Amino acid sequence: MTRVLVVEDDPQLVRALVINLQARHYGVDAAPDGTTALRLAAARQPDAVLLDLGLPDMDGVDIIKGLRGWSRVPILVLSARQASDEKVAALDAGADDYITKPFSMNELLARLRAAVRRTEDITVAPETTLVETADFTIDLLAKKAVRDGRDVRLTPTEWHLLEILVTNPGRLITQKHLLQEIWGVSQSNKTNYLRVYMAQLRRKLETDPSHPRYLITEPGMGYRFEA
Ligand code: CA
Repeated sequence: MTRVLVVEDDPQLVRALVINLQARHYGVDAAPDGTTALRLAAARQPDAVLLDLGLPDMDGVDIIKGLRGWSRVPILVLSARQASDEKVAALDAGADDYITKPFSMNELLARLRAAVRRTEDITVAPETTLVETADFTIDLLAKKAVRDGRDVRLTPTEWHLLEILVTNPGRLITQKHLLQEIWGVSQSNKTNYLRVYMAQLRRKLETDPSHPRYLITEPGMGYRFEA
């Protein structure tokens, strides 16, 4: 059974989450504050954590840091906070995904399944070499992209960016992380580099580059590859 720890101080939302998760055969523990959350995380070893950032006793970002001190459990942040630097702070502290309230239960469950699947994938197949979509194939070993039976020419920078995204399917990768990985800089004023390279990748890989299906922008935050 997949165990989920719900960390949330809004009793109505906790009830809705518990009912929906149990209906899908998840085992659920709920914590109304950060102290209980950290205790339950250690005692119950959940497979995923749904974490509200605004808790009565602790900031959610500190809970993420606390968990990341000893655990790689997927953490999905639930928050009403719109400010993108808070989202980025949560992701940089080690959260895996960020869902803005109010959210649809179906979307939350889909993201949760994806987060749990990613950890399982890591255990089963640490060396994914082929990433296939309906429109193109990426061979990570041969460093080749093929679309409609033809090789797609990618510059080393485009390749590096694509490689980071496709090896983390479904996962939001922050601008800061990409800038550091590719150019070794963290200045957020370099985000226009990313926009330029993402536009090039979309032109080369997407059927409709202005409405990307695979290389998704999360405004103000980063990018996500959807297989
Ligand atoms: Ca709250």
